[in-house]
Amino acid sequence: MTVRGRPGVPLRDDLALRAGYHSPQVDVEVRLNTNESPLPPPDAWRRELEAEIATLDFHRYPDRQATALRAALAESHGVGVEEVFCANGSNEVLQCLLLAYGGPGRRAALFEPTYALHRHIAELTSTEVAEGWRTADFELDLAEVGRLLEDSGPVVTFLCSPNNPTGRAEAPEVVGAVLERAPGLLVVDEAYGQFAPASALELRSSGVTGAERLVVVRTFSKTWSMAACRLGYLVADPEVVEACTLAALPYHLDAVTQAAGRLALRYEAEMRARVALLTEERGRLAAALAGLAVQSWPSDANFILFRPLAHDARRVWEALLSRSVLVRDCSTWPGLEGCLRVTVGTPEENGRFLAALAEALDGKDGT
Ligand code: PMP
Repeated sequence: MTVRGRPGVPLRDDLALRAGYHSPQVDVEVRLNTNESPLPPPDAWRRELEAEIATLDFHRYPDRQATALRAALAESHGVGVEEVFCANGSNEVLQCLLLAYGGPGRRAALFEPTYALHRHIAELTSTEVAEGWRTADFELDLAEVGRLLEDSGPVVTFLCSPNNPTGRAEAPEVVGAVLERAPGLLVVDEAYGQFAPASALELRSSGVTGAERLVVVRTFSKTWSMAACRLGYLVADPEVVEACTLAALPYHLDAVTQAAGRLALRYEAEMRARVALLTEERGRLAAALAGLAVQSWPSDANFILFRPLAHDARRVWEALLSRSVLVRDCSTWPGLEGCLRVTVGTPEENGRFLAALAEALDGKDGT
């Protein structure tokens, strides 16, 4: 075997400092760490997709504008096709937004603790981050929001609703109040939107003042049970869609993903049924957590944030792992000291998690 040297080419300074954003992908029986759906999409969808793949012109580039997919999404939201942009997961949608509107000398505002990728993508695109903080209960304080936005003049303001990893959705009045105070685009990341009681999409179509600056981002990774596909989209003013199209690489969205998303929309009722089941399970998990020695926060999503009261969170995480249950360790994230996050799984998985947690909190293994 030839032993090669390392290239030794210095990394960009700002990247060298970055730890990345990774949840360990360990082999476990109960995987409740990345907020995926525990339930697969319908068999009928899979069959339709297979039939479509069989007729696909694999030697040709895909439709660069993803027209059929965007038209189907536009129809499902009652908006025009020119108001929809699609990309490889909502992370790529966010990246396109910041490539188009961020960059050196420009700022993006966000309110911690929130979805780590907002900051990560801002930094990757050399967009300065203006950081505000949520209250001790992880709510937005509109006075703090107003102060931050006035002081920093961000080109993009991020909200995450429901907020990952804390769980609560913002009330439409709160989103409206932030929109009033945001000088640039207000990007509402609704990755878990269908679990929540309200959406910024309704606010947008209500014609609220500033609606043309409101951008709503969604994904197929969670409620649509299609994390393997990498498909996300935004609904926004056509000018924003054009800007994102300029920032995306040519033919970035492959033909299989386009077909998968378009066909999935035929199974909206099945998606809603999965969401209903998981919402019910979320209630069961929340009630059970209330009876254990943990603090937990109300959730409008498919996960719950909790903090062991008398145990070290990392030790609890390890004790769960030793029982083949994987949750997300947020305990070292700023503002989330001592916290863990559990994704709502199937009834059986949730039962396994609760039993393992009860044992871990009993401290039988030194936790
Ligand atoms: N936004 C939020 C709030 C998320 O939690 C996630 C997934 N963890 C994403 C966006 C990215 O999802 P995807 O790229 O799979 O669409």
